[in-house]
Amino acid sequence: MNIHEYQGKDILRKFGVAVPKGIVAFSPDEAKQAAEQLFSEQGSNVVVVKAQIHAGGRGKAGGVKLAKNPEEAREIASKMLGATLVTHQTGPEGKEVKRLLVEEGMNIDKEFYVGITLDRATSNNVLMVSTEGGMEIEKVAEETPEKLLKIQIHPLHGIQAFQARQAAFFLGLEGDNFKNGIRFMTALYNAYMSIDASLAEINPLVVTKEGRVLALDAKINFDSNALFRHKDYLELRDTSEEDPFEVEASKSNLNYVRLDGNVGCMVNGAGLAMATMDMIQLAGGKPANFLDVGGGASPETVKEGFKIIMSDKNVKAILVNIFGGIVRCDRVAGGVIEAAKKVGLNLPVIVRLEGTNAEVAQKMLDESGLNLIAANGLRDAARKVNEALAG
Ligand code: GDP
Ligand code: MN
Repeated sequence: MNIHEYQGKDILRKFGVAVPKGIVAFSPDEAKQAAEQLFSEQGSNVVVVKAQIHAGGRGKAGGVKLAKNPEEAREIASKMLGATLVTHQTGPEGKEVKRLLVEEGMNIDKEFYVGITLDRATSNNVLMVSTEGGMEIEKVAEETPEKLLKIQIHPLHGIQAFQARQAAFFLGLEGDNFKNGIRFMTALYNAYMSIDASLAEINPLVVTKEGRVLALDAKINFDSNALFRHKDYLELRDTSEEDPFEVEASKSNLNYVRLDGNVGCMVNGAGLAMATMDMIQLAGGKPANFLDVGGGASPETVKEGFKIIMSDKNVKAILVNIFGGIVRCDRVAGGVIEAAKKVGLNLPVIVRLEGTNAEVAQKMLDESGLNLIAANGLRDAARKVNEALAG
């Protein structure tokens, strides 16, 4: 689960990670009030108005603006709110700005990159630091890997003092900045662990001319499988930032990820779903989604899955690939038939049912009067999908 920058910073602050003072605003007037408060409290001479969307690259796209007085903050806010921001991370359709973060302005001396995420290759969390702050870190990793230091953190030992020092040293920090840098890395790692994050990315981490070391930006992703331990963070979810199909699917407890192909897939079990997508690809097609309706899929979940797949306009054919183990094939067939009748089936649907009561299910599908194409095995199914696509 993704959250907004201001929410991430609020969490980090609680764990002693240095972040600027900031106030969220939902309207131009709130932005003005927030700026007034920051000017009076901080005695700072500038505030920053930042668009809150679940995507980076806002700076270059005009989503981060400086204001020298509260009235200017209000003006910037009135232009930003309701506008659509297109950054290299939003895709061409962009994202509508509905919230702003008004923050005390910083006198930036240096910008760095700091990130923590899970390194699946080593099964460790890895702390990454780079002197190339504000840049796309993927680019840095590819083009100038010597400028990115990766420190493997042992899961039981946690971040060691020498590792935090190593990171601060790599960034060239000295004196108080060095000490503050160490404190920052350590606090960030502890926050990351405590909240079960899958990503904590600070880009940029800045050193100010006044000698403060703090997170100017914050991107926090939660490990969704651990959210049951953090029920209070669930309310931070902003579904307006998510794919509407995925939001709909999550309501029915379906594991659905939207992709950009044209073959809708309905499968039970993540492994079978991945194998199915591979087979489609091998046969020359492109999956429109990953959908695992679960090992114990009921006719209702099958129906929901069908509805979601059908509402994706890119879908030109559907492949149902269900192994009847816990769920019986005849019950799945019932769900398919019911859903197909309800949503008005006008696409070729290739169905492969295997396992418990597969023959009964086949008979039901044959007698349904619907245009369902039976497949025998996975290879046959993938082939029939592509035949159907070719017309
Ligand atoms: P992103 O572009 O979406 O990653 O948004 P960031 O929060 O990283 O901000 C982008 C850039 O805006 C930063 O790299 C800074 O250069 C600039 N910026 C953000 N806050 C301040 C600030 O307080 N003072 C100054 N001078 N620049 C800022
Ligand atoms: Mn950033």
